Amino acid sequence: MAHTTHAIFRDDAYLAEAEAAVVAVNERGGIILDRTIFYATSGGQPGDTGFLTRADGSRIAIAATITGETKNEIIHVPAAGQPLPGPGERLALAIDWPRRHLLMRMHTACHLLTVICPFPITGASVAEDDSRVDFDLPDTGFTKEEVTARLMELVAADHPVFTQLISDDELAANPGLVKSKNVRPPTGNGQIRLVCIGDKGSVDSQPCGGTHVRSTGEVGEIHIGKIEKKGRENRRFRIRFGPSPA
Ligand SMILES: [Zn+2]
Repeated sequence: MAHTTHAIFRDDAYLAEAEAAVVAVNERGGIILDRTIFYATSGGQPGDTGFLTRADGSRIAIAATITGETKNEIIHVPAAGQPLPGPGERLALAIDWPRRHLLMRMHTACHLLTVICPFPITGASVAEDDSRVDFDLPDTGFTKEEVTARLMELVAADHPVFTQLISDDELAANPGLVKSKNVRPPTGNGQIRLVCIGDKGSVDSQPCGGTHVRSTGEVGEIHIGKIEKKGRENRRFRIRFGPSPA
């Protein structure tokens, strides 16, 4: 039976530490908790790493976080050779916050890119140093310099980033909110999580379950490293931190 983990990061992406109780350890040694701050790999954003501290002070290193039988079941995958906790055991949770914050900045940068390139998204992958978004886009007059300049305008404007819940019906009435070509947001729970940028979402709103920074200014300096052709109707934009190389 799949468990439902309370995903604290959905309400507060900035929580780097918390406490939780072990619900189960699965047959492959994956640890399921009642609540967690560890984001599970989904939507192109990699899962968190970090450690769980036991009552005696010893640590269980977590190498990956993934979803289980359902999207609501979060599994903490220990590094090789780690001791396993028992059901009911209370643990202190700590994510690798510097890594997560880089992923939050990059993930938010990917949303900004979809504002500048308003085309159907065919894929995305967020990483600490280099992220990519693929668009269904036959030919692009875009140059990386131009896209970088427009990205940095959105960063400099320091727009707020926030989440908002809407109903399945509201999403159905606003199909333009969905930018992914192949991935539909999960409906049927009655509520869809929108990630909004700008006052009342004036810059962008789209369904997303990932973690983001609070304002576009926090993304910091980024640039488009490359625009690659991936097939006749696909363009891959690569985002990197820092200024454009001279
Ligand atoms: Zn997102």
